[in-house]
Amino acid sequence: MIERWLRGTVLRLVQGDITTQAADAIVNAANSALVGGGGVDGAIRRAGGPEIEEACARIRAERGGCPTGSAVITAAGRLPARYVIHAVGPVWRGGAAGEADLLASAYRASLELASRHGLRTVAFPSISTGVYGYPVEQAARVALRAVAGALPRPPIEEVRFVLFSRTDLDAYARALQELGAPGAEENPDQTAGR
Ligand code: ADP
Repeated sequence: MIERWLRGTVLRLVQGDITTQAADAIVNAANSALVGGGGVDGAIRRAGGPEIEEACARIRAERGGCPTGSAVITAAGRLPARYVIHAVGPVWRGGAAGEADLLASAYRASLELASRHGLRTVAFPSISTGVYGYPVEQAARVALRAVAGALPRPPIEEVRFVLFSRTDLDAYARALQELGAPGAEENPDQTAGR
């Protein structure tokens, strides 16, 4: 496990399966139609059961889905988490189609929803780096910068990134280090370490 404190929130990187995470919310790498997909989305829907699809169907009926770069929140069914935040990252098209902004926006929108619902712990997967093809080194930098720049006030306790593979964990660990040396307001005793 790798962690770092930032303005009262711990950013934590773990390797694992997001569907097993105990957190107030887990984030789903959803698609803009909010229909079942593979990867994280399929795993979350399988583990959470029909309540998640029912909630997504209601949102589809009300507002047609969820545009890329935004997020919606639903119940979590049988998952250990209380809520699922469905965030829609961009499909990678080579990097010049606004992908970084859209990916950052998906993370920010998720934190905003978490904050609005008074949630204290949120677990993210590596949005867009599976089927959507975003190179993980670049996605990790965008993800951590976006989260570091949008930590809610008052602070939420923990933002956890749950990386499926060791390679992804390593990419996120490098990106976390790149965020810069700990500032005075952080808790340096709690910084880093595996
Ligand atoms: P996207 O369509 O946004 O690219 P994917 O679900 O295809 O989303 O993949 C996003 C990332 O999540 C990939 O790195 C994939 O390996 C990873 N992943 C797949 N299943 C899980 C899971 N159960 N827990 C955590 N990460 C997962």
